[in-house]
Amino acid sequence: MSTQLRKTQTDSATEKPWVLLVEDEPTVSKIVGKLLDEAGYEHVSIADHKQIAAAILHWKPRCIILDSEPGSAGHERSWADAAEIRRAHPHLPVLMFTADPSSTAEARAGTTARSKAAGYAGVIDKPLLVVEFLATLKNAVDTTQAAPSVPTPNVTKGIEAEAISVFPDVDGRASTNWAVSDFFGIAVHELRTPLMSISGQAQLAQRYIEKDPKRAADALSKLLEQTKRMDKLIGDLLDYGRVGSGALSLEVVTFDLGVATAITIAMHEHEDTPRITFTTPQRVRVQGDPDRIAQILGNLLDNAIKYSPPGSPVDVSLTVVGAEAHLRITDQGLGVPDEERGPLFAPFFRTTRTRDIPGTGLGLHISRRIAEQHRGRLWLDSSNSVGSVFVLALPLAS
Ligand code: ADP
Repeated sequence: MSTQLRKTQTDSATEKPWVLLVEDEPTVSKIVGKLLDEAGYEHVSIADHKQIAAAILHWKPRCIILDSEPGSAGHERSWADAAEIRRAHPHLPVLMFTADPSSTAEARAGTTARSKAAGYAGVIDKPLLVVEFLATLKNAVDTTQAAPSVPTPNVTKGIEAEAISVFPDVDGRASTNWAVSDFFGIAVHELRTPLMSISGQAQLAQRYIEKDPKRAADALSKLLEQTKRMDKLIGDLLDYGRVGSGALSLEVVTFDLGVATAITIAMHEHEDTPRITFTTPQRVRVQGDPDRIAQILGNLLDNAIKYSPPGSPVDVSLTVVGAEAHLRITDQGLGVPDEERGPLFAPFFRTTRTRDIPGTGLGLHISRRIAEQHRGRLWLDSSNSVGSVFVLALPLAS
């Protein structure tokens, strides 16, 4: 973050107007930031609304954009934040991002008490249309001069560079803070993030398709990446619902776990130099749903690869222990801190070491439930700073 602060200080000499974005969704923040950049604005993005007052003093923005997420605490808060900004800086225009048509109507009509107090200079509907957004912003910035009442940043000396998070890491959200019972809220929130990103990338591609095809292609590949992420997310959320209600059906057959493992590994080996080694001493027959077992193994392999340095080896071994087949997946990655092993298989749990790597925290939970449905087990056998060993145990076919 200190580099961002340095950038801030260097750029303060330029004429570009500053825009303060208050947005707790890193992906949205990133996309909007990119648009602002391209449209010739300087921007700073903060996730915590408590930092608004300090950020205004520090950056002296010409416009503030507040995101208002319907149904969340932030929704009501945006109105209150807008009113407070207006009281302190009556000349500073505030725009609202919202996906809620009734908020749009209320803010535009400006007849209710809170809309009068908030006095929004404009409302931008989500998913946003780039042209519309930039026009509303330009209008707000052009028609209003920087607030003369903003004092010089004497008061801001105490602001730490860390206090302002400029474009927080994409997907670095702490899912563990969310109430797991609010499944619907989580699902909507999780699905909206990639959707917003897809919409933003599509609009970027549309804009650059002629004048900068390389940039357009880049936006399209990001769009595809997000589509894949969304597809996985929908699959995980559906499975989470199914395993929770016992509605996950299995098509049980007797099959060779070694062969099934080799096939799954081949599907997860995406690099030129193979990373995954596999040893299996003999035919190991189990009874179960091969697709669901492959789903567990696929999730363990994805994690082993995702949470390890690029190119580091992942080892898979299959052995028979008593009446069980044991599949051990060993990686040389980030490991799981001792104190976080307890909740590792709880839905939406993600460890502190992996917050800046995309994920939902659902895969291990779903995998364990599927293993249990097979009368099997799934656990973290060992983990330290040089890697982890996950074991899937399944009863041998009789
Ligand atoms: P996701 O990977 O989508 O977040 P999972 O349920 O598969 O969800 O994993 C839950 C969490 O467990 C991960 O977010 C990560 O914090 C931790 N984790 C899982 N596998 C590993 C691994 N091989 N190494 C380190 N941490 C892991």
